[in-house]
Amino acid sequence: MTAASAGGPAREVLAVKFGHRVTTRAESYLNFHLYGEPDADLDIDYFFWVIRDAAGVYLIDTGFAPEVGDRRRRAHDTTPAQALPLLGIEPADVTAIVITHAHWDHTGNVRQFPNAQLVMTEAEYAFWTSPLATRRHFAAHSEADEIELLARRRRGGTLSLFTGRSTLAAGIELVEVGGHTPGQLIVNVAAPGGDTVVLASDALHFYEEVERDRPFAILADLPGMYLAYDTLAQLASQPGTHLVAGHDPAVRDRFARYAPAGPPGEPGTLQVTDLTSPHAG
Ligand SMILES: [Zn+2]
Repeated sequence: MTAASAGGPAREVLAVKFGHRVTTRAESYLNFHLYGEPDADLDIDYFFWVIRDAAGVYLIDTGFAPEVGDRRRRAHDTTPAQALPLLGIEPADVTAIVITHAHWDHTGNVRQFPNAQLVMTEAEYAFWTSPLATRRHFAAHSEADEIELLARRRRGGTLSLFTGRSTLAAGIELVEVGGHTPGQLIVNVAAPGGDTVVLASDALHFYEEVERDRPFAILADLPGMYLAYDTLAQLASQPGTHLVAGHDPAVRDRFARYAPAGPPGEPGTLQVTDLTSPHAG
């Protein structure tokens, strides 16, 4: 059990699985032939993340739009606007949305939150609104209308940008790491009991990337990706600090399934993982 903080309910940090795909190791790891291993299937999960405490509700990424998932042949179960009410959260109650990076499987449902404040890195926003982002190897991983929506939100004053580090709220730190995309960020969350949960998003798709030093196949900057792995490994070496990979089904093994204490918060058929409850070992 986690201890409740003195001022209100304990902070919750949740991973909501909303989609799935079977890919291959050769497609997922950069220059997989270097490892001299046979190829094999690889399960990839899709998540968005929710932080809830007495001060607010923070949505970390928004998943992909169902119609885009259909076009790209990804299985999907839910969207944030469908899932949050099952966790006792109305979409209008979302305090802020962090965009960890602007790939299609993270920006697809921003439109469900017309009034939420958005935050991302300056480098990420500048890149995806630049001509370079229309080149094929970048454009393949974004949706033009979703980038345009971010630009509209920027012009309308509801998208804020930062460089380096930014405090979203007490105990929620955003850290720019780059590598996978020009301005990829991670989220370090202070959890009950003095632990830290590191929402790596796509700075770490699979634990194997950092544990076996194997870069992911989709990237903007290889030195930056290696340095992001170093940052994550350094964080993971701290006592009580737990890495949460962005697409690894192992997240659902390394942490407990979410079990809310009582209503509201009946997750029903949602696959929700409690990132404040790591399994030992
Ligand atoms: Zn992703």
